[in-house]
Amino acid sequence: HMEENIENLVIGSGYGGAVAALRLTQAGKKVVMLEMGLDWEKDDGKHKPFSDLITPKNNSTWLKKSSQAPMMNIAHFNRKFTGVLDRLDFENIKVYAGRGVGGGSLVNGGMAVQPKKAYFQEIFPDLNVDKFWNTYFPLAQKELDVNEIPDDYYEQSPYYKFARVGESEAHKAGFETVRVPNVYSFEYMKKEEAGEVPKSALGKEVIYGNNHGKQSLEKTYLKKALKTGLLIIQDLHRVDYVEETKNGYAVYVDIIDTAGLVIAKKTINCKKLFLNAGSMGTTKLLLTSMHKGKMTNFDASVGSNWGNNGNVMTGRNMVNTLFNRVENDATDANFSTGTGSKQSTIPVSGVDNWEDKKHAFFAEISPLPMGLEVYTALYLIINKVPVPGRISYDPSLDDIRVHWEEKNFKHTVKNAKYFIKKMNKANGGTPSGLLWKGGYGPDICYHPLGGAVIGKTTDLFGRVKGYKNLYITDGALVPASIGVNPFLTITALAEYCMEEIIKTDFSED
Ligand code: FAD
Repeated sequence: HMEENIENLVIGSGYGGAVAALRLTQAGKKVVMLEMGLDWEKDDGKHKPFSDLITPKNNSTWLKKSSQAPMMNIAHFNRKFTGVLDRLDFENIKVYAGRGVGGGSLVNGGMAVQPKKAYFQEIFPDLNVDKFWNTYFPLAQKELDVNEIPDDYYEQSPYYKFARVGESEAHKAGFETVRVPNVYSFEYMKKEEAGEVPKSALGKEVIYGNNHGKQSLEKTYLKKALKTGLLIIQDLHRVDYVEETKNGYAVYVDIIDTAGLVIAKKTINCKKLFLNAGSMGTTKLLLTSMHKGKMTNFDASVGSNWGNNGNVMTGRNMVNTLFNRVENDATDANFSTGTGSKQSTIPVSGVDNWEDKKHAFFAEISPLPMGLEVYTALYLIINKVPVPGRISYDPSLDDIRVHWEEKNFKHTVKNAKYFIKKMNKANGGTPSGLLWKGGYGPDICYHPLGGAVIGKTTDLFGRVKGYKNLYITDGALVPASIGVNPFLTITALAEYCMEEIIKTDFSED
């Protein structure tokens, strides 16, 4: 059994953790960061290349014997491995998460979307929205290397036909669409298409990791933090729980191997502790620490105000294409050609129906890059979560339970049905029952949010109520939904919290 004494410990290397690490090290503080997944860059990237969508290897999947994508090919493996994409299965919901140094940035679609100002204010009534719009969102965009797809490239690339068709079909159905920024480099993508560099987004890589092109956190925040020389990242370090001590916190860590077996145990004593294990991980740590670490001073709100950002995966089947063409408009190019056999994995557009009070949603126009024409239009719909769910700890499982019922998601299915019906009426097609039973997947969650909400479980700067020197700056702070893809908001929130924490809580050192 090993024991270490340090000053500042960050648990988790996603957006919240990466911002905390950069701002602490820039302020001259030494930081140790623990990550349960792999450092994919170590030993010259020996566990890479990451898998593409079509032929996942065991590095695609966190400690399971088959791949877990919501669609696409399911592959079986001989050996479990600490792969990059995890799926946490609960009673009514399956939550996806990235594993490894960089967290969700390793597996996500890179969409860096700023929420609606009015909705941000509704979700965070006590935060200064203008300050966020003028300072923290622009800062997050700059540090994350956000860029936009050039219009001319979007208009002509065969890899974005799915998006162009998606937009024009939406317009035909009377919806408005928007183009959304991304952290995938479109300069790189253009070179991919020209055949000048290895293909990544155009080579069907995304949820199992991108080998090129995406500015994930190990290339931005974490790289900068490491450059200070003050950050040490320890991978395959999974925190079990935390206990309060005289001088701070004792953090109990299982060190695992790439098969997921515990090979050593370590206790780290630290003065200041930053819990940034993501909505699921941070909430689990709080609840487990309440139970095993006797940390009973938390606010009663811990575990509540949780949601899936109103995620519903749905799609439209265009297999009736030929029939529809005859019935509707034989000259319409969209019908005759589907969404394309070439598709980039990086979404760049969405249907913005946020102003419709009865059916407020944002629908990401998603690719389905199977490598052949599948006549399917795919959407990830994002909704409000007016009735949030809850996370609890079950000692008999030594794990969390997610309480997520019909009342929490029924409006999301209603909105999805409304959207698909309108789209089919204007464009032809049927709900895609091939992908999900009934054609709607409200049990899929790419965007877990909440469980330790700002202003409730923490103060207005991420300081955990009931304790000193204990902080949260990740997706757990956001109450259940933010209405668009969340990482830009999480990054901006973390920047805002860290500015205050460094100014005030480190002034005596
Ligand atoms: P995370 O990024 O999840 O980081 C938490 C880290 O902590 C992880 O690395 C995890 O392994 C580690 N950890 C957890 N528990 C422990 C523990 N006990 N001990 C040690 N380490 C631990 N959002 C967007 O805005 N745009 C998109 O296009 C988009 N696409 C997505 C696509 C997919 C497939 C998925 C899964 C998500 C997507 N998201 C997207 C969501 C986005 O990635 C998350 O909202 C974001 O990563 C959350 O940031 P975070 O810092 O809260 O946590």
